[in-house]
Amino acid sequence: MLKYPICPYLNLIMPSLTILVVEDEDAIRGMLMMVLEQAGFRSMAAADAQDAQKALDEALPDLILLDWMLPGTSGVEWARRLKKDPLYRELPIILLTARGEEEDKVRGLEIGADDYMTKPFSPKELVARIRAVLRRTGKVNDLAQITQGDLVLDTEQHRLSIGDKQLDVSPTEFRLMQFFMTHPDKVFNRTQLLDQVWGRSVYIEERTVDVHIRRLRKILGEHGREDLVQTVRGFGYRFSVADSSTASTSTTS
Ligand code: CA
Repeated sequence: MLKYPICPYLNLIMPSLTILVVEDEDAIRGMLMMVLEQAGFRSMAAADAQDAQKALDEALPDLILLDWMLPGTSGVEWARRLKKDPLYRELPIILLTARGEEEDKVRGLEIGADDYMTKPFSPKELVARIRAVLRRTGKVNDLAQITQGDLVLDTEQHRLSIGDKQLDVSPTEFRLMQFFMTHPDKVFNRTQLLDQVWGRSVYIEERTVDVHIRRLRKILGEHGREDLVQTVRGFGYRFSVADSSTASTSTTS
């Protein structure tokens, strides 16, 4: 599997949504990743379905750009499997194909793909379609603003607020909240949070995560919302705007 490190600086000011690119042709894959990076996305890459499955086992992307024609398991076959799997069913998929037949398009959408694009397409069109799918599938309501309950994270102005009150968070805590808010109600262990928020190229002790979570809770606590980031004993942490009094978790670490 090919891995492209993310730029921590860019990540401070841009949405950190991750797109998995599955494409066997090096030139096209490279072009797609460049386009995504320029649009402010993080990207992961795989050359076939087997590599792509390995990538999914490591970290869940926010969307998959999937080439229809792949060596071995075809893109459309892999998409069909994902859409039947409760673990991956919700993952948005955009199928890419060189064939423009209406029948293919229908088949692609029938198996549950969220959109379908015929090559060649312009980078602008690709980014617009990705944003549309992300909005439609509720990943974001607007790429600049992520809203969860009364919590609003503005990635352009780099601001986190509850109602009209701005929260004083560090860049790391901002990224952590950005990740949590784009992945609500899911439990992540420390390693997953380190990979997603700090990046894999950096070596940081796992307890660093606890330190930042504690600070984040303290800041949220000043607004009576420390319950938004919950500890799931023996596993890790979860962000949820759902009523925490009904959750079987503790908010102390
Ligand atoms: Ca191909």
